[in-house]
Amino acid sequence: MIKSYLISTICIFFICCQSNTAQDKKNSSKKVQKTELEWKKQLTSLEYNVLREKGTERAFTGKYDKFYENGTYLCKGCDTPLFLSENKFNSGTGWPSFDAGIKGNIGYDSDNYLGYTRTEIHCNTCKGHLGHVFDDGPSETTGKRYCVNSVSLLFAPKKKQD
Ligand SMILES: [Zn+2]
Repeated sequence: MIKSYLISTICIFFICCQSNTAQDKKNSSKKVQKTELEWKKQLTSLEYNVLREKGTERAFTGKYDKFYENGTYLCKGCDTPLFLSENKFNSGTGWPSFDAGIKGNIGYDSDNYLGYTRTEIHCNTCKGHLGHVFDDGPSETTGKRYCVNSVSLLFAPKKKQD
C-alpha cells in the first residue's frame, strides 16, 4: 500500500517537473533579447531609431504606406508575424494602418511622450517599437487604427495557390 502510494507520488512529481520544463522552454524560446550593439549590427540606423529608440519614420515615406499585396507583415527585428494584409486599410495618414493585429504577438504600453496619453505598440517577442494604436479606425470593423512604421515591418507575400 505504502509502496504504491510512494510510486504514484514519485510519478506525479516527475510529470510536474516534465511539464514545467516544457513550459519554461516554450516561454524562453518566444523571447528575443539582444544587446544594443547586436541590434545596431542587425538593423539600419533608421530601423534602429524606430524599433529600439521608439522613433517615427516621416509620414508618406515608408515603403508599406501605399502597399496592398496579400501576405503577412513580420517584425523587422525578429520575424514574428504581427499583421495580416486583410486588416490593412488606407487611413490617409502616411503610415501603414491596420484595424487589428495578430493576437498575442503585439504588446501595449501607455506613452506620454507628446504630453498626452497614447497607446504604444511593440512586438511581444523582441520588444521592438511598432507605432501606436488609436480609436479612430474603421467603425464597420474594429474601430481601431494600428498606426505602424514601415521600417518596423517585413512583408512576407502569400504563396500563390494553383
Ligand atoms: Zn520582434
